[in-house]
Amino acid sequence: MGLQPETRRQFMNQGTERLKADGPGVARAAELLRAGRLVAFPTETVYGLGADATNGKAVAAVYEAKGRPTFNPLIVHVSSIEKARKIGDIPKAGEAFLDGGWPEGLTVVVPLRAGASIASLVTAGLPSVGLRVPALAIAKELLHAVGRPVAAPSANPSGLISPTTADHVLRGLDGRIAAVLDGGATTAGLESTIIGFSGDAPVVLREGAFEVPDSMPRQTAAKQTNEVQAPGQMTSHYAPKGTVRTNVVAPRPGEWHLGFGDVQGNVSLSPNGDLAEAAARLFACLHEADARGAMRIAVAPIPDTGLGRAINDRLARAAAPR
Ligand code: AMP
Ligand code: MG
Repeated sequence: MGLQPETRRQFMNQGTERLKADGPGVARAAELLRAGRLVAFPTETVYGLGADATNGKAVAAVYEAKGRPTFNPLIVHVSSIEKARKIGDIPKAGEAFLDGGWPEGLTVVVPLRAGASIASLVTAGLPSVGLRVPALAIAKELLHAVGRPVAAPSANPSGLISPTTADHVLRGLDGRIAAVLDGGATTAGLESTIIGFSGDAPVVLREGAFEVPDSMPRQTAAKQTNEVQAPGQMTSHYAPKGTVRTNVVAPRPGEWHLGFGDVQGNVSLSPNGDLAEAAARLFACLHEADARGAMRIAVAPIPDTGLGRAINDRLARAAAPR
């Protein structure tokens, strides 16, 4: 006896659900996100690939689905300014942008509040968080229904162009994500503008959909290599205080050993050798090394496949001479 097509599809975990932008569609999308699955959804800029920002494994799955070779921090999406304030500490200069409500296509990078339950992989271990309240009604409805912050980069495979329709999303990610909420074509079609704050002065970290005056300072490329606040691959990465040595099965005396799989270590990224778990735990483990005052960190070999590539990329940066 054959299974019903729907049951069979779920059983085989194949295909991506295309959900209508209506009540039941939003409810289903929210249910999937709360279960740690990935759902693409429209915003006023481009389609985002959403994951529960409080669930490290769900966030790791975003990198896996996109094939992203590096862990750069993801923007956290919430349904209201009040919710944003619970996660990040918005400086006065930031509040000035929010007077008439959260503007379309704006992301702000602000200090992460202590105790905000954002998975460390979302911020790549940084003490800052990128926050955005999308203006598009269906995106807000979804975020409200999820009731949790949603981390979302653009819903395309790494290195390809950002999607502005559900068809674009499926062209790149069909079968790799649980669902896409089809809200038609997005209007801006350009990523959000990212603004950070240097002291209390706004600084444009990335140009995008929200227009800022020419007079506002831009983060220069040179500065991006030194300042933690800058977006991009180089700098926005947290590095532990201790030196890092990779590919270590047998640590030297005095080294604090981070294990993986069969290599146990002082603490393990994943005793079962699960790369998604290791990715989800990476920054928390490096913070733990810092908290323990480890001056020399040795890390077990991590297979250089799938998420292992992004983990190794991150470790290589941490191991590079500084
Ligand atoms: P994407 O998700 O590809 O649109 O990229 C998001 C951008 O926001 C990246 O350039 C990130 O570096 C930047 N970003 C997000 N969160 C943070 C953060 N906590 N600190 C600095 N930059 C951030
Ligand atoms: Mg992108």
